[in-house]
Amino acid sequence: RSKRRGRGQITVYSEEIAEEMRRGTQVEQALRRAIIADEVSVHFQPIVNLADGAIQGFEALARWTDRELGSISPGLFIPLAEERGFIDSLTETLLKKAAETAKHWPSDLFLSFNLSSAQLVDPATAFNVLAVINRVGFDPRRLELEITETAMMTDPEVAAKVVNELRSVGIRVSLDDFGTGQSSLGRLRDFAFNKVKIDQSFVSEITMDKSAEHIVRAILAMCEGLNLKVIAEGIETEEQAAKLRELGCKTGQGWLYGKAVDAATAMDLIEAQERAQGNPSNPFGVSR
Ligand code: C2E
Ligand code: MG
Ligand code: MG
Ligand code: MG
Repeated sequence: RSKRRGRGQITVYSEEIAEEMRRGTQVEQALRRAIIADEVSVHFQPIVNLADGAIQGFEALARWTDRELGSISPGLFIPLAEERGFIDSLTETLLKKAAETAKHWPSDLFLSFNLSSAQLVDPATAFNVLAVINRVGFDPRRLELEITETAMMTDPEVAAKVVNELRSVGIRVSLDDFGTGQSSLGRLRDFAFNKVKIDQSFVSEITMDKSAEHIVRAILAMCEGLNLKVIAEGIETEEQAAKLRELGCKTGQGWLYGKAVDAATAMDLIEAQERAQGNPSNPFGVSR
């Protein structure tokens, strides 16, 4: 926009947009470089049994620190990769890393991995996912894929097909950030989900706000009727955990139980748990 036509405000506004685009392009280039240089990593956040804190699986979360730009949130770089058309190669890299790590865990632990919205409109997704985990040698029955309501609403028909194909090869599918999206409850019937993840916005209010408690109560009742497992996200305090247990929620994740950690630290957590349970499946200390 030309300065001649605009008032001061308009000039500032357009400069802000230009600045944002410059920054977007700068981040994009750095991210492309990081993918090629293998600098984007995956961390793992424990998902636990709320009754005793036992780890049941881990959610893979992408992590990236650029030398100049510093640490950049996946909430920023994942949408950027989608927008600029290289989410497929990024996802493949991340899934491969995650599965290579999870392959070494005891076989009763699952890996949960986030699919992006672009993958829900791509009919090749199930094939691509299976190709990656087969190459790694990771059992599809130990894989769960998380998708958001918003992602599945872009093209519900293709999304339903992708979900069904994933299910048919033994992969489980969870609905992430439940309660925040645009979809209707009826959608839960149209899709073959295994689990629902209650968004942390409800969990963070659950001890302070009666209406959040009622919503969580309703989600739990509905999921029980629909035979869906439930994971509560973003549990930060013992009070929240106690309330969730009281309401009958069996599984959760959050900073109370642990932040996302690197692969080696995740393995330390698993081994510590096995020692505590008195059944070290690795009695000679040989690294797996
Ligand atoms: P999400 O899948 O809903 O993941 C949960 C987010 O909540 C993570 O943020 C996690 O670090 C954070 N979190 C977990 N426990 C707590 C807690 O107790 N308190 C608070 N305040 N936060 C907690 P993160 O790692 O920044 O990821 C943000 C989003 O980026 C994810 O939301 C997911 O949508 C996306 N994402 C992350 N990794 C990947 C990936 O590999 N692929 C794709 N497609 N998306 C990813
Ligand atoms: Mg998730
Ligand atoms: Mg979530
Ligand atoms: Mg979220």
